[in-house]
Amino acid sequence: MHVQHLILGFFVDLQVAAAPVQEQCGGAGGWRGGGAVRCHPSLSTERKASIRGVVGELLGAAGAGADRGLISLGVGDASSHACFRRGGEFAAEAVADAARSGAFDCYAPSYGFPAARRAVADHLSAGARHRTRDADVFMTVGGSGAITAITTVLGGAPGANILLPRPGFAPYEAACELVGAEPRFYDLLPRRGWEADLAGVRSLADGATAAIVVINPNNPCGSVYSAQHLFQIAETARELGIPVIADEVYAHMVFGGSKFVAMASFAHITPVISIGALSKRFMLPGWRLGWLAFCDPTGALKHVRTATEMLLNVTSGPASIIQAALPKILSNEHTEFHRNIVNLLESAADTLYRRVNQTEALQCYSKPHGSMFMMVEVNTSLLFGVEDDMDFARELIKEESVLVLPGSVLGLKNWIRIFFGAPTSVITEACDRIEAFCQRRAVQVKLLKKKF
Ligand SMILES: *Cc1c(COP(=O)(O)O)cnc(C)c1O
Repeated sequence: MHVQHLILGFFVDLQVAAAPVQEQCGGAGGWRGGGAVRCHPSLSTERKASIRGVVGELLGAAGAGADRGLISLGVGDASSHACFRRGGEFAAEAVADAARSGAFDCYAPSYGFPAARRAVADHLSAGARHRTRDADVFMTVGGSGAITAITTVLGGAPGANILLPRPGFAPYEAACELVGAEPRFYDLLPRRGWEADLAGVRSLADGATAAIVVINPNNPCGSVYSAQHLFQIAETARELGIPVIADEVYAHMVFGGSKFVAMASFAHITPVISIGALSKRFMLPGWRLGWLAFCDPTGALKHVRTATEMLLNVTSGPASIIQAALPKILSNEHTEFHRNIVNLLESAADTLYRRVNQTEALQCYSKPHGSMFMMVEVNTSLLFGVEDDMDFARELIKEESVLVLPGSVLGLKNWIRIFFGAPTSVITEACDRIEAFCQRRAVQVKLLKKKF
């Protein structure tokens, strides 16, 4: 048990370091009578590609002769663009105050400082139908820490399976594999605003299904679910007798007339475990602060809460000075900071959507209304020398120095995910390059057709 928890704690690093780990496992030598030291099978290189692994490979393919700067729309981090941080100085000031006070050099309690838990509970309860209690909030190392914790708690039951969206967010699948839970994928429907295929959800679930993961606003699709659709999801989960894990790290990052509705609004229908973080909305991904919050008016999650407490007692939490700053960071005084980010995202999403749909080989079925991502279908039959999404991404970065994420990493072959958390001028430049790439490849298709 302890060993597994330790592995889980370092899981993200291990993913990046997959190759050296494999070498150690495989290189037998004479030691131990030639027997190699064994390691976790789901950390072998046969494991499916991780986002970081694929991005690393693509960056390696970026021609050394690339005469133009790289435009990275592969991973979701807007914090390097100064325009997204405008008005965000309050966070650094709050941490500096906490550090200077010397009052937070101690270990934080396992579940987080009471003031931090209260700040999250207040933040989630403002204007909500159900109040989240302080004791139902657990501080974690980023949103990813919340994902590994809840997957361990719910998916660790023998034979358990967890329902995940496809396309999805790869760390859920990896976390399932590490604890021996079976990931089962339900489809998000591109022509229906990426809503969940609930008939599919029903047919996938069985008595061993532990939970359904719902990401809203959605990475990678940019969709924002209506209250009506969230209600349908909650009803489906109730029929199946399972809680909803609501990944809301993009909460309130919505635009274009959409409204963010918290899944916890439907907690009277089925229990909701929500996940939040400072990474995206506050543009502080490196600060590694996230949380799990239980909204459980019927008390169905009693044992789950206890198990979560036990897990957090043997794993480590976020840095105390970051927790100490949380009440100031989550206070509702920073409307200008947030409005600026949402305006930038809306403008970037509009530009990207328009330009992508002007490009013959590319199609986006629904304009993003939230998060920082868009899924684009690639018609590979219109592009010479591009067999699939991985080829598209590799050739694009080679020829045009633009990084996008191949959809197959997210479960959708021949799609790509484009990150739009960048200034509109950068998005426009990226679109020019993508269009130039597609045009160059399309011309050769026509020539070929004439030839044969
Ligand atoms: C970024 C992200 C997270 C959490 O990320 P952290 O960087 O660990 O805080 C969780 N879920 C989704 C869907 C995300 O995109």
